[in-house]
Parts: sequence; structure tokens; C-alpha cells
Amino acid sequence: MLIVVIVMLILATPFSALAAQLSGAALHVEGADIEVSFEEGDLSLPRASILDWISESACAVTEYYGHFPVRHLRVVIVPLDYGKGVVFGRTFIPGPAPVIRVMIGRAASESDLHADWVMTHEMVHLAFPAVPEQHHWIEEGIATYVEPIARAQIGDLTAGKVWRDLVDGLPHGLPAAGDRGLDNTHTWGRTYWGGALFCLLADVEIHRRTNNKFGLQDALRAIAKAGNMLDDWPLTRTLKIGDDAIGIPVLIKLYDKMKDAPFDPNLPKLWQDLGVKVAGGSVAFDPKAPLAAIVTSIMKPRADRSVCARRAMSTWTISSSDF
Ligand SMILES: [Zn+2]
Repeated sequence: MLIVVIVMLILATPFSALAAQLSGAALHVEGADIEVSFEEGDLSLPRASILDWISESACAVTEYYGHFPVRHLRVVIVPLDYGKGVVFGRTFIPGPAPVIRVMIGRAASESDLHADWVMTHEMVHLAFPAVPEQHHWIEEGIATYVEPIARAQIGDLTAGKVWRDLVDGLPHGLPAAGDRGLDNTHTWGRTYWGGALFCLLADVEIHRRTNNKFGLQDALRAIAKAGNMLDDWPLTRTLKIGDDAIGIPVLIKLYDKMKDAPFDPNLPKLWQDLGVKVAGGSVAFDPKAPLAAIVTSIMKPRADRSVCARRAMSTWTISSSDF
């Protein structure tokens, strides 16, 4: 039962004190509706800050894909008495609309939210059709790889941070002794970082073969236009849609190489070719490296930037009751 509905524009000074007392909110972003509700519990942050964080994540995903991946989404925020910052997130489909459930520690701060990857990671999951369980690595790999790039494209992360995390994280995705390929090796490292490795190799190869006309972002945009997490598709059908969009079968060929064999791509050589060198807590980019233009092209925001990503306007509808 709605008692009060107030439409607020989130601009430079986002929210009134009223928002802190309200129990639910809805964001309309680029043709999609995101409904947010809060479960019982205390948070030291005002709810307005949490809505702002959800909005930022939605903008990053909208910018990367060119649209928000589903028409309706429910986000449930669960305050916890323990844990630091954003503790855990999960996306599932209990009915006609997907739900992202995120647990936040009571003491979470503004900077915890700003540094957090969970909300964007979960929203990226919405943009890829559900595939059979043995291919779970592609779902987590895309979320792991796309999340920081999407956040960098709207200015929330630096390119140095994105590539430093790839240099640190991707070795976890390399095959160990006894590995039987991504479809048959369901460890944490091979699922999250092995999947991200697949994405990076595909991205570099698409950029290389199309002379930076296309990248993985174009393939994933085509896939997200054709379907989303509400669809159950065979992986090969999904990959073919991506390949058709860029005009070359990069995704299918790389999948054939990595699905049931322990392919090791020689990461040190790849970093050298891309001109990515570890420097302190970040990386230095060598513009003279043979594939340096690929790094620039991967990170570049698209020309067709969304209204949301330009921060022109995000509209929240705040209500005094739960949805
Ligand atoms: Zn995930």
C-alpha cells in the first residue's frame, strides 16, 4: 500500500533526509525498472547512499551493454550485524523477474560501497543467458572480467587498477596438474579466473583480428540484445550470436580450445605484448608495445553513451512501504 510517492531527481545533491526513513525505492533506467527493498536491520549508512551505489552499478552495466539487460529487476538489501562492507551477493530467478540479494555489514561506509564490485558483478550476470551447469565458468568469467571494465568506462575505476587486478588475478585461472579444461574442472580459480581468462583472450583476439573495430564488448552486446539470464540456452548457440555480430568465429574457436584441455596462454608474454607492466600497486602502460592499442580500445567508453552513464539524470521513485 503506497502512502507517499515522491519522485526525486538524483543530481549533484542526491537525497533528502526523508529517504533515510523510507523502506523501498524504484529506479527507471533506460527502459528498465529496478525495485529496491530493505530487509529489517540497521545500517550506519543512509539508505540514500545505497540507492546511489545501485544507481552507479546500473549505469556501469547500461554503459557497457548499451541497455540495461532486463526490463524488471528486484534488488533486496539485507543488513547484517557482522561483516565488513558488502559481504555477499547472489542473483536468482524466483518468478518472472530476477532478484539480486546483497548482504551489507552494519558498519559499511561510503568508501566500502564505492570500492565494491558485488552489485555490478551481479548485474552483469543478468546480461547472459543461463547455460548448463558445466559451463558455469563462462557466467562467472564474464562477470569477473566485465565488471571492472564497465566501472572504468563510467569513471569509477582507473585503467591501472583494472589491469593490475587482471595481472594479479588471472594466474588463478591457469590450469593446474590434472586439469581437464573449463567444462570439466570446477575449482574456484578455473571458474572465476579461468572464465575471465577466456574473456581476455577472446577480447584481445577480436580486437587484433578486426584492427580494433570490434571487441568482446560488441559480441556481448549482441548476446544481451538477443537474450538474458531469463533464457536457458546451449552455450554454443550463445557464443555463435556473439561471433556473428563481429563476423569471425573467435568465441567458438577459443571455446573448442579451452573446453576440455588445459590450455595455458603464456600470460607473461601476453602482458609484454600488450605493454602492461606491474608498477607498485598499479601498472604502467607501454604505448610502444605491439598490442598497446588493444588495451586502449578495450577501455574506451563507447560513442553511444547512455543518458545514465552521462549522469544527466537518474530518477528514483521512493515509497514509504515495501514493494
Ligand atoms: Zn557471480
